[in-house]
Amino acid sequence: MSVRVRFAPSPTGFVHIGSLRTALYNYLFAKKMGGTYLLRVEDTDRTRLVDGAIENMLSAMDWAGVNHTEGVVLDEFGKVTQKGEYGPYIQSERLDIYKKYIQKLLDEDKAYYCFCTKDRLDKLRETQKENGENPKYDGHCKSLSKEEIQKRIENGEEYVIRLKLPQNHTIKFNDLVRGETEFNTNDLDDQVLIKADGFPTYHFAVVVDDYLMKITHVIRGEEWVSSTPKHVYLYEAFGWEAPTFVHLPNILNTEKKKLSKRQGDVAVEDFKKKGYLPQGLVNYVSLVGWSPEENKELFTMTELEEAFSIERVSKSGGVFDTEKLNWVNQHYIKEADDNYLTDLAIPFLVEEGFIKEDEINSKYEFIKGMVSVLKEKLQYVKEITNHANIFFGNEVKLEDSDCEEFLKLDHMNTLINSLCEKVEKSEKVDEEFVKAMFKEIQKEHGIKGKSLFMGSRVILTGQMHGPDLPKTMEVLGKDICLNRIKFVKNNLM
Ligand code: GLU
Repeated sequence: MSVRVRFAPSPTGFVHIGSLRTALYNYLFAKKMGGTYLLRVEDTDRTRLVDGAIENMLSAMDWAGVNHTEGVVLDEFGKVTQKGEYGPYIQSERLDIYKKYIQKLLDEDKAYYCFCTKDRLDKLRETQKENGENPKYDGHCKSLSKEEIQKRIENGEEYVIRLKLPQNHTIKFNDLVRGETEFNTNDLDDQVLIKADGFPTYHFAVVVDDYLMKITHVIRGEEWVSSTPKHVYLYEAFGWEAPTFVHLPNILNTEKKKLSKRQGDVAVEDFKKKGYLPQGLVNYVSLVGWSPEENKELFTMTELEEAFSIERVSKSGGVFDTEKLNWVNQHYIKEADDNYLTDLAIPFLVEEGFIKEDEINSKYEFIKGMVSVLKEKLQYVKEITNHANIFFGNEVKLEDSDCEEFLKLDHMNTLINSLCEKVEKSEKVDEEFVKAMFKEIQKEHGIKGKSLFMGSRVILTGQMHGPDLPKTMEVLGKDICLNRIKFVKNNLM
């Protein structure tokens, strides 16, 4: 039987980094096993629906390059559509299917109608808590007669349908990460399967869908472990074979608590907005909870597809370490194509007012030059705005008093005059010219090392440290370099 796995997000408006990892591991497992990875939308909680959430989620997955070949997809116009032979893949479009399967359970006395009001259930829970018991449905409606049920439905009473769990029944399942797990039904609740609004609960829909979509492995976050026995019992009740379960460890923050939205960036979109590269984010996230066999941390998607294995997924939570993410991302930025990075950098430069929207075309080559000089410094693309100021303006603003002191050094007059003369006479200021010029100055005036290089940097950029100076000067071009040298000479010395 060929492997079929699924990522089954609820459209809540954003993709948590933990969901990205769940999707990624499903994708990688399918690739490794030559199987199918599909995406199903679980939208049965009608109170949590958010407009445009499916589109956002799909485009985030698309951006990350975790691509599914079946299920809910975006068409070429960005509209939600579906492909595959096991659809529909959006749960709210499968109500007829759930109706058919719940009827089967009702007919076989494996599920029952429950008319308990919210008020009764609240009181029940209160009392159980006061008595130190685990809150649990007490089976009040478990034995209603057919006639009574009929009458109450006809009277328009609101109802839900619950799973009828047998007493003292052992439920076992094997989890590929956590091993053999056993539960007793006495510790479980008669789970609601169909809600008062007629929609199935997650627990019911997930089982029916995983079965009908021929899912072989359910790979999901560990927050679902406690629900799995209920699911396994449902498989039993239907007489279906359950899939293999894989529960992934939580992603933790540095305080070893579950990574949550309140602590800042946790959504794929947050990272995208800062200019993290999808390759960097995916590579890093793959390592949170999985350890590769070889001692290596940088993996392209193709390498991950080969290296990934469920056996090396850890049981305990993995810590999300932003510094490590930045290190991985920086690697991909250094390797990235300059045009690609330039396109990513432009919106940040526009937002911070370095360039105007209508200058993008005319300044494209200049921005690209700047990006190629600065890329070695960037952990994520947005950081370009922290370094960009030295590329703008004909005047020089000294960064601090150390720069002021540097300008007062004995050799600086000779240096600035020499720079001025040589740049003025040059045909073109490019990297090669600048390097040759520094050699000449050293030979002619004996100025070398820090005095020469830091001195020139202070004159041209107003800073003692910064990116490669010959390259920076090439991007600035002859006119700006000369204007700056003259400005410093006339105003700051
Ligand atoms: N809809 C559930 C979620 O959003 C899916 C859980 C599962 O994979 O079974 O996490």
